[in-house]
Amino acid sequence: MYVLKNVTVRQFRDVKLLSTTKTTEITLSDNQDKLQEVTSETYEEQALLTNTSSNGNIISITIAKNYTCPSCHKNIAVNSDSQFVRCSSCNMKVLKGSLTSSMHATMSFKPTDADAPPLKLMCFDKCLKDFITAVQKPNFQTDVDELENFLLLNQFNLSYDESFVVSKISQVKQ
Ligand SMILES: [Zn+2]
Repeated sequence: MYVLKNVTVRQFRDVKLLSTTKTTEITLSDNQDKLQEVTSETYEEQALLTNTSSNGNIISITIAKNYTCPSCHKNIAVNSDSQFVRCSSCNMKVLKGSLTSSMHATMSFKPTDADAPPLKLMCFDKCLKDFITAVQKPNFQTDVDELENFLLLNQFNLSYDESFVVSKISQVKQ
């Protein structure tokens, strides 16, 4: 058994994501007491995660959109132009309009700070939706391509934590 120390755990829909940070330590362990001890420490560490915020440009981005079946809440593939879609998990046919969707983005961000290298950042659904509300472009909700273009064309201030997850995107007015 391995002990991972100083990792962060995030709940994203039904999935738990484990991320390593600059201070992550991986050690071999067969001791249950030690495991408990590390767990409580990990929670403290998480509370201490610091946010960094920088101005810069997003130099590359991909935004994935996932749809969820309203019946069984599993992910559902939407790839036809039909207004109906059949869930491969529960076999129910549903109207495309009644699917709930969530987005997540992966991007390279180049801080304006000249000697800083580009950062690989992740951004989840809530952060993207808050951003769409803030810039008052509700069409981005359905037009992910336009959202990507907008993010590439403008300058932004991004707040992100030590596990490189963005919590806030604000447009920098030029
Ligand atoms: Zn289903």
